[in-house]
Amino acid sequence: MGMYAMTGGATGIGAAIKNRLHTEGHEVTVIDIKNADIEADLSSDGGRQHANAELAKVASAGLDGFIACAGVGSHVTPFSLITSVNYFGAIASIEGARDLVAKNNGALVIVSSQSAVMDYDKNYVQLLEEGKEVEACAAADTLDGQTAYGGGKLALTRWMRKHCTEYATMGVRMNAIAPGYTETPLNLEAATSPEYAEAMAQYKASIPVGFAGTPEDQAAATCFLLSPEARYICGTVLFVDGGSDAQMRPTEF
Ligand code: NAD
Repeated sequence: MGMYAMTGGATGIGAAIKNRLHTEGHEVTVIDIKNADIEADLSSDGGRQHANAELAKVASAGLDGFIACAGVGSHVTPFSLITSVNYFGAIASIEGARDLVAKNNGALVIVSSQSAVMDYDKNYVQLLEEGKEVEACAAADTLDGQTAYGGGKLALTRWMRKHCTEYATMGVRMNAIAPGYTETPLNLEAATSPEYAEAMAQYKASIPVGFAGTPEDQAAATCFLLSPEARYICGTVLFVDGGSDAQMRPTEF
């Protein structure tokens, strides 16, 4: 039995990851704003500190894996919330878990997004990469939701790529999954909003394999990256998107 912790395990992809880890016989500590072992709001500094302090107590013996999954969708306002949860909240939780995962030579998986490789706002992404939360949040509020969301996931994925070698020397393998369209509460909300419904229906219809992904598809990929079978995989971004990325960027990989 392994010891795992994660953010965002209350619903959607995170809940499927938690359930799969439970089915495999592991213990999972969930950090989430609701329905969690550690309830914390990762949009705020106080919430992040509370989450990390509680996790350090619960998992003092070490963790075999940590998954940074919590996030809000591109339709959530103010858009600065996307910045503070999806980027700064994710990194704070990973940094809080790092030494615990290192104790067990474990693995870290970041839930990024296929949106990370779409058009982005250079200034916003630069502010994120410089760690300027106040300025990046202010910039997000001047953008549209998709640009704030995609830029946040791009910066998060770059952060993973920049830090995975340092983490590897500590015994921690770090990777990301990049989900494409996946049927979760986050997407259902957007898919039924007048502003996003049409674009989302078109996007869904374009998925090469002909169907939308499920949270269980994302959980399968995440648990593979966490497992010893993936021991030589480090710093990779695994697209779990039914072929959408290859369709949009056939010459990039
Ligand atoms: P979801 O809304 O079902 O799950 C998000 C989880 O994050 C929930 O448990 C929620 O309570 C938690 N959360 C939200 N705000 C929080 C906060 N301030 N503090 C702590 N926890 C908070 O959505 P999902 O689709 O399962 O999303 C999970 C991850 O997958 C997100 O990072 C999202 O960006 C990413 N993703 C989803 C899709 C998709 O199509 N559904 C595609 C690409 C990436």
